[in-house]
Amino acid sequence: MAIREEDILLIDAPPMNRLEAVYVPEIVRGIGVTMRHFFTSFGQGRTSRTIQYPEQRREHYDPVDGGQYKGNFRGVHRLNRDEAGRVKCVACMMCPTLCPANCIHIQAGESPWDDREKYPVKFEIDELRCIYCGMCEEACPVDAIELTTEYDVVGLSRQEMIFDKEKLLSVYDVTIDKKPM
Ligand code: SF4
Ligand code: SF4
Repeated sequence: MAIREEDILLIDAPPMNRLEAVYVPEIVRGIGVTMRHFFTSFGQGRTSRTIQYPEQRREHYDPVDGGQYKGNFRGVHRLNRDEAGRVKCVACMMCPTLCPANCIHIQAGESPWDDREKYPVKFEIDELRCIYCGMCEEACPVDAIELTTEYDVVGLSRQEMIFDKEKLLSVYDVTIDKKPM
């Protein structure tokens, strides 16, 4: 559908003053940040940017802080379960339609339960193609798909990194305490 002329809003960038136009203050500020990081990186353990992974982990990725979820890192997906332990997904196809990386593949089938029409017979996410944008999570009308804060997921082949429904449900089982729905 063509966009009507009256629906187009043109926004001009605010004019820059002379100081901003030469970019010098911003360049100096940027160099300042770089130098601060350079010097503080010598203070091992306190402000160093380097950690000895996997013995050390970045704490701000770990969501549990006194039992409260506080992370905003987008890691590997999980498929949530409902109160009865069934997959919450209703196979509406919103997430594969929106996914910019085209890495979600669902085969919908008639639901064996009375409270929904469809469910995913197959549900696969290619974790290597995913760009972890979080669009699938935003699109889901029933909060069935979520990104967790898990980031150290490895596989020995590309095939292993295609997570199927059982694998995605198992991620839910091990992350529900760390990131409540
Ligand atoms: S996070 Fe983004 S790229 Fe990854 S599966 Fe979801 S929508 Fe697709
Ligand atoms: S948007 Fe949610 S309910 Fe719809 S197919 Fe994706 S996970 Fe299932």
